[in-house]
Amino acid sequence: MTAAIDAALMGIIYKNHFARQGSPSRVLYDRIRMAPEFSLCPLCGQRIVATVDHYLPQSRFPALNLTPANLVPACSDCNKRKLATVPARAEDQTLHPYFDDLGNERWLIASIQPSSPPTVSFDIRAAKIWDEILTARVRNHFVVMGLSELYVAQAASELADISYGLEGVGDTAGPVGIRQHLDAQFRSCQARDPNSWKTALYEGLRDSDWFCDEGFGLIRNPRQANEQAMGHALL
Ligand SMILES: [Zn+2]
Repeated sequence: MTAAIDAALMGIIYKNHFARQGSPSRVLYDRIRMAPEFSLCPLCGQRIVATVDHYLPQSRFPALNLTPANLVPACSDCNKRKLATVPARAEDQTLHPYFDDLGNERWLIASIQPSSPPTVSFDIRAAKIWDEILTARVRNHFVVMGLSELYVAQAASELADISYGLEGVGDTAGPVGIRQHLDAQFRSCQARDPNSWKTALYEGLRDSDWFCDEGFGLIRNPRQANEQAMGHALL
């Protein structure tokens, strides 16, 4: 008969030995923590790794407490958000950075709303290689990790950063020049990561006729409310 694995004891071994500063095994802990490129959390792709997360929680799966495949680098935010959820079905499981291959097809899509200033929203378009469960899991991962809000905020900041430069391009090269500029940015971001929020943003901006014609000029200089109302009245 196999002895039941004591969750509390496994927790103590993990905390006081495996992860403890100065312990021989801390080298392994740090290797897992430092593995991601640029120290970016693989769960959000945005924030800095701060900890090692148990993909399957230690309280429910103590036998996997020290299993390398169950130890995933994470930022504190993703770690906390994940802890707050208890998946009951396969569809509710968040993504595993080692095992879930989402492929290279574009699946993160940004839409540009013609507003003043322009606003951006993100959505997921299921890739051909995904089955229904993976599609549900990607959507669930976005909700649990709060990625839509995170990417919307990053996109707004990026627009503010590029607005002055875009106005200059618009002055000299018009909408065609704006589109070429955005296309070059899109290709550069896509070469590194086909589904980062930046890749999605630049594709969305490039493909928006409204943004290339006039939206780029409304980032730093949004129309006043009465001006917009007058514009609508004239239409
Ligand atoms: Zn994260």
